[in-house]
Amino acid sequence: MEQLRGDTARLELGWREPIVVNAYVYESPPGSADEDGQDGGTVTLVDTGLRYNRRSLTAELRAAGYERSDVDRILLTHYDLDHVGGVGQFDRPVYLGTCDVDLVRGSWDPPLDHPKGLFHRLARKWFDLNGVDLRPVTDGDRIGGFTAHHTPGHNPGHFASVHDAGVAFVGDLLWETNGELTPPFWGDSYDMHELRRSIRAFARSAGEFEAICPGHGIPFRDEGSERLQSLADRL
Ligand SMILES: [Zn+2]
Repeated sequence: MEQLRGDTARLELGWREPIVVNAYVYESPPGSADEDGQDGGTVTLVDTGLRYNRRSLTAELRAAGYERSDVDRILLTHYDLDHVGGVGQFDRPVYLGTCDVDLVRGSWDPPLDHPKGLFHRLARKWFDLNGVDLRPVTDGDRIGGFTAHHTPGHNPGHFASVHDAGVAFVGDLLWETNGELTPPFWGDSYDMHELRRSIRAFARSAGEFEAICPGHGIPFRDEGSERLQSLADRL
């Protein structure tokens, strides 16, 4: 666990490099816009790691000062097994991009001629999110104090969330590698052209924020929107 700022902690999950994945817990102050959301929550968990992590999600949450029952809502940046593995431990609303909801529920079939499409067809059979209170997210949705930005490419339903307090949770839209923001590894994404378009569009629409929190690698506490813009300019 790493406390990034007063409202945000990074939960370090997964196994060992290169299968290390971040989840985050964000808490807004009482009386903030988060309580006006449909679920009335102030404690948001962003992503949930693998089903079996080297350090458990519960232990990382505790290190950040929370019990599982403290979590009010869960934002899943996308449906991949290293981000959704722990979601079944929570009986709370779970927000997932509409296209990824369609993928996991079987109302959209990913292409068989893409390795990830094939993988997802298998993955959704044994990790189906049945019994999870899934709430589909579309571009521009407000979830408490968060604004959702649909950022397809890695997955069709991938979304990034920017909180009004100045922190962005970007999942696998981009990673940190060697102290820099980078696009993720190409082999694990549906469409790298679309992903780069999403990074540029996100840089235009996300507004100003300080911290940027990727799904893999080390988060940056400051100059988040400047770092994002600089990556978008380089693509
Ligand atoms: Zn990932």
